[in-house]
Amino acid sequence: MAETLFEKVWNAHAVRRLPSGQTQLFVGLHLVHEVTTPQAFDMLRQHGWKVAYPDRTFATVDHIVPTIARRRPFLDVMAEEMTAALERNCRDAGIPLWTLDSANQGIVHVIGPELGLTQPGMTIACGDSHTSTHGALGAIAFGIGTSQVRDVLASQCLALDPLKVRRVDVNGRLAAGVYAKDVILTIIRRLGVDGGVGFAYEYGGSAIDAMSIDERMTICNMSIEGGARVGYINPDETTFEFLRGRPYAPAGEMFERAARWWRHMASDRDAAYDDRVTFNAASIEPTVTWGINPGQSVAVSEPIAAVATDEAFAFMGFTPGARVAGTRIDVAFIGSCTNGRLSDLEAAARVVRGHRVAPHVKALVVPGSQAVARAAEARGLHEVFLEAGFEWRGAGCSMCLGMNTDRLEGQQVCASSSNRNFKGRQGSPTGRTLLMSPAMVAAAAVAGEIVDVRTMLDEVPA
Ligand code: SF4
Repeated sequence: MAETLFEKVWNAHAVRRLPSGQTQLFVGLHLVHEVTTPQAFDMLRQHGWKVAYPDRTFATVDHIVPTIARRRPFLDVMAEEMTAALERNCRDAGIPLWTLDSANQGIVHVIGPELGLTQPGMTIACGDSHTSTHGALGAIAFGIGTSQVRDVLASQCLALDPLKVRRVDVNGRLAAGVYAKDVILTIIRRLGVDGGVGFAYEYGGSAIDAMSIDERMTICNMSIEGGARVGYINPDETTFEFLRGRPYAPAGEMFERAARWWRHMASDRDAAYDDRVTFNAASIEPTVTWGINPGQSVAVSEPIAAVATDEAFAFMGFTPGARVAGTRIDVAFIGSCTNGRLSDLEAAARVVRGHRVAPHVKALVVPGSQAVARAAEARGLHEVFLEAGFEWRGAGCSMCLGMNTDRLEGQQVCASSSNRNFKGRQGSPTGRTLLMSPAMVAAAAVAGEIVDVRTMLDEVPA
């Protein structure tokens, strides 16, 4: 019988049906970080349990670690305590950990694929909502809470309800100046922030097929913002070429054998879906959020439509019919697991080259990992950003969630390449976040206000 990748992966990892009706699912890879694990390890210790599969568990520091002044002990006591707890817990359990002095350190969803830990056909869990990112390589990846982190540490299993599968096709070609971020913001805007509840999103169509793995990660990363528990893209030659030669990917003949299995795990041509929706890539424009959830967005050329609630308008200071273009910004943030990879920095640098950041704007570039930082520095991108007046920081989550010292202040307005524009997300309860592509953030940093990046790309030699 024809099956989707989701069904194949689910069935291959199902241990048993639980009396609750849920399925006990084996987790192939567990990624952990400093913030959602201290309590989980404590609970394990209280029960006298051991980590079941330390060889399937990998750890990094990202959420709370500083992106400047990274010498230990950190000035931030909480960051120091959480990092020290993770070091202790990983040492006791025999779990590999990449801290700030490791070349492999970075945001958990950036380093997993980068190191070849993330592979097609896998089940993956991590105590962060944006674990869906790993679906870009054909994995089924679940963001989990602290008690589930405990469960996975103790048993390498999760109790889960099955999901329906919605196929989301994006066909055609994206115009210049339109990026994966614009695609996923458009999808969420149309399907709604709750539209994916109970679903896995399988993305496909010619525009998705043409995307690099970096771009596919941006798409899958924000599945959770559309309510979908997971998002994935069927593995193809782009996936295999991305994985070839990565440290934790199979090598030699084992790689070819693995690739045959990965190919077989892709959805069958005649697989049935619970729902299907289609988007026309050519109609997608640079898109910016104006509200307080990622579904409240608008094409940069359009006026904001009226919505049922006044809350978002009151908080953000927009009015129905207004345009986001021309909105003065205070902060520009390029980074996060959504858009902190090399191709994101390259796209932003193309816009920034030869320009200066507007005098009233604080602008930060925070590479998603130390490997991204090294690759960017080898290409001279850091010099482009520094010459323009950006700060070039160390790898981490930074201003995506403002849990570290990178935070908005007061009512600052931030053009951000991250994934959430909830009230208070960037560290200030009254700070205002406008989500957009890294190229759009770069354009806003230079102009000092939201502008259509396509007007600046005309100035940039191809
Ligand atoms: S960058 Fe943001 S969404 Fe991604 S792992 Fe860090 S805090 Fe979570």
